[in-house]
Amino acid sequence: MSSLKGAVTPLRIVLVYASFAAAWILFSDSALSLLVRDPVRRDQAQSVKGALFVIVTAALLFLLMRRQLAERQVLDEEVRAILDGMADAVLVVSHERQVVDVNEAAKELFAASHRRELLVGVEELLSRLRLNYVDGRPVPFADTAVMRALAGQTSTYEARIKAFDGREVFVSVSSAPVRARDRHHPRLVVEVVRDITDLRQFEEARDEFISTAAHEFKTPLAVVKACAQLMLKRSQGDPVVLEVVGRQIDRMTRMVQQLLEVSRFRLGGAELRHERFDLGSLLAEVADDLRTHAQGRRVLVEPAAAAVLGDRERIGQVISNLLENAMRFSPQGGDVEATLSLQGADAVVSVRDHGLGIPHERQARVFERYYRAHAGTAQDYGGLGLGLDVSRQIVSRHGGRIWFESDPGQGSTFSFSLPLAQQERA
Ligand code: ADP
Repeated sequence: MSSLKGAVTPLRIVLVYASFAAAWILFSDSALSLLVRDPVRRDQAQSVKGALFVIVTAALLFLLMRRQLAERQVLDEEVRAILDGMADAVLVVSHERQVVDVNEAAKELFAASHRRELLVGVEELLSRLRLNYVDGRPVPFADTAVMRALAGQTSTYEARIKAFDGREVFVSVSSAPVRARDRHHPRLVVEVVRDITDLRQFEEARDEFISTAAHEFKTPLAVVKACAQLMLKRSQGDPVVLEVVGRQIDRMTRMVQQLLEVSRFRLGGAELRHERFDLGSLLAEVADDLRTHAQGRRVLVEPAAAAVLGDRERIGQVISNLLENAMRFSPQGGDVEATLSLQGADAVVSVRDHGLGIPHERQARVFERYYRAHAGTAQDYGGLGLGLDVSRQIVSRHGGRIWFESDPGQGSTFSFSLPLAQQERA
């Protein structure tokens, strides 16, 4: 980047000009009267002096402007070189939703024959690129990174596009608004598009393997569970041991189901049902099922009702994940309280525990796949770190949101919202 030292600033220009003009005005007339005694010749000399002043100041102005332009050109070339040196595609979009600049990597990623092909309206470019989320759902125009950035937000998501040569490319897209110092609304948006096709293919292969393995585990687990139940029924073997076997099989089955579910969402094979149901009775039902594992804890559910539309079984899974976590991460006991409330156009389920809480520095990653906030600590109670990832995907596919508040040592409250079915709204 060019150095600012010695840069021609407006102040410097004005100072140079003012000194020059002041010196000229002060000394030129007195010098002229001393040098030329004849009044006629002096008048002529005055005109020459005036012309000289104009010529010299014009030349000065010309030199200064040329220097300014040369510096600007160097800066432009440096910015161009930086953009073209980037491995990620970069698009600069104006507030009129027009792509105004792209780098070399963008031309290559989108397989455009010339940069000009990409300098079009954003809407046109996105429809040509057929932008979809990785699971195949189209990205609504208002939710695209560019539109969010024009509204002043930064955003990042993974998506798939079709390049101009028909290739399917997986990309990670992030956009940020560029604001002038004194302006509230962004004048430009910079969008960075990274090709993650290789990474995605590796992840797909991994997810397919996990899915196949989980499928293969399902049958033997079901058979072992059936055998344990049969032995219990026939009074064969130690009933206490058989209880333990049954419980552990249930635990493994739940983990296998989570693995299957996570790969279904990743591979785009998760079909959601769309039925009307009462969230309040589902909450009560799931809590009842889990009370057998409550080990002396009370699971308190306040009776409430709220009709929502969606996949009852999967929302049940979300509630079950939150309640199980609440119990698992309160080893010292304490009540688990579940509530359902109406907030505007949403129904909100909250699960509160008085357990370990989550260390502040680990809270940001809690919804990440495979992340376990207590791994490596004395309170590592196992798990695959998938429950919250799956829950987040289920809730977001229903148009809802999931979040938590947690105080280390005091407990946590995990909540999720779902849009109320139309008739429920006030
Ligand atoms: P898993 O599927 O293994 O239960 P989750 O994705 O549900 O994992 O949760 C991820 C991590 O978040 C857990 O390993 C735990 O560290 C933390 N966590 C989740 N719920 C709670 C809670 N109620 N209290 C404290 N920590 C929690």
